Parts: sequence; C-alpha cells; structure tokens
Amino acid sequence: MNNIYQQGKDFARSYILPYTELTDKESKFPEESFKKLSENGFLKLVIPVEYGGFGKGLEEHAQACLAFAETCSTTALCYMMHNVALMCILTHGSDELKQNIFTDIVENGKFMALAYSELGTGTHFYIPEMTAEVNGDNTTFNGTKSMVTSGTYASYYLVLAPSVEEGKINNWVFPLETKGLSFDLSKWNGFGLRGNASCPMHIENVTLDSSFRIGAEGSGEEQVFNVVAPFFVTGLGAVYSGTAMHMFEIASNHAVDRQYPDGTTLANIETIQIHIANIYKTAAAARALTLDAARAGANSEADALAKILSARIVASEAAIECGRLAMRVGGGKAYNKSLPTERLLRDAYAGQIMAPSADVLAIWLGKALTGQMIP
Ligand SMILES: Cc1cc2nc3c(=O)[nH]c(=O)nc-3n(C[C@H](O)[C@H](O)[C@H](O)COP(=O)(O)OP(=O)(O)OC[C@H]3O[C@@H](n4cnc5c(N)ncnc54)[C@H](O)[C@@H]3O)c2cc1C
Repeated sequence: MNNIYQQGKDFARSYILPYTELTDKESKFPEESFKKLSENGFLKLVIPVEYGGFGKGLEEHAQACLAFAETCSTTALCYMMHNVALMCILTHGSDELKQNIFTDIVENGKFMALAYSELGTGTHFYIPEMTAEVNGDNTTFNGTKSMVTSGTYASYYLVLAPSVEEGKINNWVFPLETKGLSFDLSKWNGFGLRGNASCPMHIENVTLDSSFRIGAEGSGEEQVFNVVAPFFVTGLGAVYSGTAMHMFEIASNHAVDRQYPDGTTLANIETIQIHIANIYKTAAAARALTLDAARAGANSEADALAKILSARIVASEAAIECGRLAMRVGGGKAYNKSLPTERLLRDAYAGQIMAPSADVLAIWLGKALTGQMIP
C-alpha cells in the first residue's frame, strides 16, 4: 500500500460514503464499510509484513484516518481505535497474542477497540476503578467500562485494570465472546458520531489467564503513554481535521451551487467568500499540523510530543469553528438538514471531550513545553 491518503479517499468514496447518512440517522454501526476495510487491506495497515500486514506506522495511520474522516467521522474514529489497539499488541504483546490476533484480523476481518474509560474517573481513563483479583495464573475482573466505541462489533477489547503492584495498571485483551462480558447498546445515544456504538461494557466475573495480559505485570501505564497516546492523540487530530476539511467541502460547494433569482450565487457575496476562506484556512492548518505531528512522531523528533498534543487540540477546535461557520454559510438549508453540516457539527463536538480531552491536553502541552512530567 502506497499513498495511503489517496487510497483512503478512493476507498471512502466507494465504501464509506454510501452509508454515512444511515450511520447517523439510524445510529447504525458502519458494518458494511468495515467489511470492505478488511477486504481492501486497511484493517492490517499497521500489522507487520511477517504477519501478513502492510507494516505501516504513525504517518500512514494518520493519513488513513484523515482520508476517512473527510467522508465520515464515525467510521474514521472506529477505525482509528482499531489501529491504536493493534499497536499495543505489536509493541508489547507476546508472540502468542500477536500470532492469534493478527491472524484473526488478516484472515477473518476481525477488528479491535479500546475499553478504557469508566464512569468514575471519566476523562482520566488511565486510573481504572474496576477490580482485578489474582488467583494463581488467573485474574478475575469486575467493573464497567463506560463508553466503548465499536462495542459489540469489535472482536477484541483492550481493557485497563489495576495491577497487583500498588499504583500500577495492566493492559489486557478481552475477546468478545469471553464469559461474563456484556454490552448495553441501548445506553448509547450520542449527540454526534451516532453510528459508533460507544456503549458501556459490563465485566462480571470475567476470568482470564495471564496470556491475555499485554506486556509485563504493571506495564500498562508505559503502554498508555508511549504507544496508545501518540497513536490515539494523532489519530484524533486526523479525525477532527478531516471533519473540518469535510465542512469546507460542503460549505464551498453549497456557496457555488446556491443561486439567487438574479443568477448570482452565494459565492459571489464577499462576506461568504470570507467565511469560506476562514473555514479553509482553519481546516487546512489543523490538517497540516496533524500530518507534521505524525511525521515528527514517526521520526522520534525532539518536539514530536508537543506537536502531537497541539495538533489534536487545534483539530478539535478547528472542527467546531468550521462547523459554526459552515452552518452560517449553509443558511436555512443547513439548519433544515438538507446539507449534512449539522451532522458534522454534532460529530465535531466529541473532539473536545474525548479523553484525553482538549482541556486536559492543554495542561499536558504546557507541562511538556516546560519539561514537566505528564500527566
Ligand atoms: C464519541 C465518544 C467515543 C468514546 N469512545 C471511547 C472508547 O472507545 N473507549 C473509551 O475508553 N472511552 C471512550 N469515550 C469516553 C471518553 O474518552 C471520556 O472518558 C469521557 O467522555 C469522559 O466523560 P466524563 O463525563 O466522565 O468526563 P469528566 O471526566 O466528568 O470531564 C468533564 C469535563 O471536565 C474536564 N476535566 C476533567 N478533569 C479535568 C482536569 N483535570 N483538567 C481540565 N479539565 C478537566 C474534561 O475535559 C471535560 O470537558 C468516548 C467518548 C465519546 C464522546
């Protein structure tokens, strides 16, 4: 796979676009698109070549998420989480976990999700309150994860749970069919991203042996901050800058197409030209920062962390601002939903609150820039 962004755009036109409206209207998980993501190789983008994947990294991850989000933010977000979970298995998983999970993804089109947040600790998802009781090689888990994107659709869930080592955490893989695991889809009624099935996951006496733990005992925090964070935060930057670019496309097309009785168009009005210019420059800046952050991260550059955190904050704010202006350009047609602008604006609002939220990240960025420990 080369030129992932362009391939992602072509893929999205054929296999994501036909389902986007239904995804929102009926809160329908984009199952058809995921089947095609598998058939077209996107689900194995970051899986190493020796396991049958394409062995790509952070830059290609960002490009794929961006390309998909320029058509459908929901599909892009669900896809993004899959790549993040895969990276944990790749960097910290045992040979057995890699073999089993990568094979299931490459051969059977399965995909992954992240079950980290809990109702209690909310945006501070790296502090799990669920319980993990160790008995020999087995651990029994109890608790509830609050919002699990792709809930019931993904086949493997990464779960953060306390370690036996005081103050430490572990990252586990829970297969979908594990006894004691259940989801409550009826609790998902998102303002936006309505198809992503971000529902609670109940964990009742789930017992797993240590082969399902990713990495050494107590290594969860290291995984969260060294692997999950760069891929997840950059991925969110890509999803929300893609959402902002999508708004530019809709607003500019509308401005050109909307004709008044005298034959002039919205695009002929100077104020509208300025709005379109502002939407474009805001979205393009977010996209450029995100792609540069991904490049810096992939090359382990000294300022990669600052760039990644900035890109995600800028992208979430850009998506909301572009949505506000795109609603203005879209007039009554946007308000009455004959344009998809309001859907995108609703999708955009998730950006500022998804953990680590824009507010929390702003603090992390300030700490990173002044040489302090995160979080
Ligand atoms: C669309 C969507 C999909 C999601 N998918 C997943 C998923 O797949 N997996 C998963 O694990 N979770 C997921 N989440 C959950 C998400 O990551 C957060 O954990 C959740 O939104 C936190 O909600 P809360 O009400 O508990 O926030 P709270 O923790 O109550 O925070 C409320 C507000 O206060 C701010 N705040 C809190 N603490 C601080 C602080 N110290 N400094 C500054 N500001 C602060 C927050 O930024 C936020 O704006 C998803 C959320 C959304 C919206």
